[in-house]
Amino acid sequence: MAHVAFIGLGNMGLPMAQNLIKAGHQVTGVDLSTAAKDKLKASGGALADNAGAAAREADVIVTMLPSGKEVRALYLDAGGIVASAKKGALLIDSSTIDVESARAVAKAATEKGLLMVDAPVSGGVGGASAGTLTFMVGGSDAAFAKAKPFLDAMGKTIVHAGGDGNGQAAKICNNMILGISMIAVSEAFVLAEKLGLDPQKLFDISSKSSGQCWSMTSYCPVPGPVPASPANRDYQAGFTAAMMLKDLKLSQDAAKAAGAVTPLGADASSLYSRYVESGEAGRDFSGIIRFIRGGAA
Ligand code: NAD
Repeated sequence: MAHVAFIGLGNMGLPMAQNLIKAGHQVTGVDLSTAAKDKLKASGGALADNAGAAAREADVIVTMLPSGKEVRALYLDAGGIVASAKKGALLIDSSTIDVESARAVAKAATEKGLLMVDAPVSGGVGGASAGTLTFMVGGSDAAFAKAKPFLDAMGKTIVHAGGDGNGQAAKICNNMILGISMIAVSEAFVLAEKLGLDPQKLFDISSKSSGQCWSMTSYCPVPGPVPASPANRDYQAGFTAAMMLKDLKLSQDAAKAAGAVTPLGADASSLYSRYVESGEAGRDFSGIIRFIRGGAA
């Protein structure tokens, strides 16, 4: 069993780290939050003061951080992960970040002779807790092969998407679909309400028809049809509107840089931006239905 340093014990990182402990690994956690660290300790993990200190002792270093800014700093700063990791260590970044930062960090790791994968996830907090995440992995064949058993302990579907940064490319495309489809499903329920159609009836029909999608069947934005969806608990996150906006902005930055035309992605980004500005940044992203119902003003 390996010694794993796990940096970023938030909504996603904590349950992922707990699954590595359950799989028999020795996990040392790092976070800015004392509450998060206490939870890891209570689950049988050890603690370190900072990423560099944790990396020095580890065979595998996993990061689950908010954005590219934190990832670049923790990996590339003097005394950071790349500088501190021991020879032969494997680096896994599961944060959702821009492709450019992912490739910059992977390049620095490779120059130091370390194996690294970018391995962002889909599946949310529920998938992180259940160990059923989907991992989209970018990196060399050797890095993927070395990372696979650790990703298996935290997820169910592990896909090698290509070279450095391609995991992030897949994640950005996937979440552009998710943002657009959540708006589509929300608009349909709001229209159904106006037309006097019971939301449960629309669900019963569309969940078995051509309108079927994850936003409908697993994360339904109206209370009732899918008991586990955030709609049943006042849209408590889950996956916040701010995180969805972050991913949509990443998709639009990437589209601009690559010369891809994504008009619905642009509209979804603009609508989520207004939803976040309305004071709902911390609300679950499926709460966009309330914003649409209220006129999206
Ligand atoms: P979160 O904000 O709950 O967790 C991030 C953690 O990182 C926090 O505990 C924070 O204290 C810690 N952190 C920040 N800066 C740090 C630093 N310098 N040193 C140590 N710790 C630091 O976020 P989350 O929901 O767990 O998401 C993490 C990543 O996963 C994001 O990139 C997000 O886009 C992605 N993601 C989230 C979900 C989801 O449903 N929440 C789903 C898929 C992907």
